[in-house]
Amino acid sequence: MIAAYEVPAALVIVDEGQLFDPWIVAVVERLVNGGHDLVVAGLDLDYRGEPFGPMPALIARADRHTHLYAVCSFCGSDFATRTLRYGGGDGQVVIGGAEMYAPACRPCWVDRSRAMHAQLARGARYLWSDDVPPTSPA
Ligand SMILES: [Zn+2]
Repeated sequence: MIAAYEVPAALVIVDEGQLFDPWIVAVVERLVNGGHDLVVAGLDLDYRGEPFGPMPALIARADRHTHLYAVCSFCGSDFATRTLRYGGGDGQVVIGGAEMYAPACRPCWVDRSRAMHAQLARGARYLWSDDVPPTSPA
């Protein structure tokens, strides 16, 4: 934690804000109220489409909010609002890169999430063997 909120910088940048504990909201508020400029980058939704960590609370309190979108890995749409994850169990946080995660637009995310759950229900060990992600799953 930032000791006594004495940060010798005018600008503070936090990446992967979704991975922080809820206490980051109070730290951010205190830094901004103390005159610091602060930028937090992070995913607002997890791979299940659920709010991710403290990001919804940070977005709600932000003076300015910019929502960036990736290109869908499946149809090429420039409006990928979701993240698909290949494997890794049910935990919300699983460390991985392009071998495990792919940006997806909502229609592709819905279609592939349903297919993935159906594969799991049938006892599939590996997912999406007929629908290769941008890089092969681990
Ligand atoms: Zn798509």
